[in-house]
Amino acid sequence: MASLSELQRMMDRLYGDRDRKRGPERTLLWLVSEVAEVAEVLIKGKASGSSYEDELADALAWLLSFSNLVGVDLESAFMRRYGSGCPRCKRIPCVCPER
Ligand SMILES: [Mg+2]
Ligand SMILES: [Zn+2]
Repeated sequence: MASLSELQRMMDRLYGDRDRKRGPERTLLWLVSEVAEVAEVLIKGKASGSSYEDELADALAWLLSFSNLVGVDLESAFMRRYGSGCPRCKRIPCVCPER
């Protein structure tokens, strides 16, 4: 099973050249549109012609591409921010007021 860092490096091998040509602004737009496709599965279900599996994988792929472009190792960043509890209350599980 690949780690998130390995998946991020896989995305760089797959699409790094194209991602750098496209740049962070347009790559972020693709990420947003893939997240919208996840919402479409939630709203339309099977009628969307897609699945959570496919659309969440697409959204993660674009998130990792964007992370490559802005020089963030997402696994390290995620663990720094969430690895020792909620970033706000520092507890596991979170005890912040619900929002
Ligand atoms: Mg998609
Ligand atoms: Zn919290």
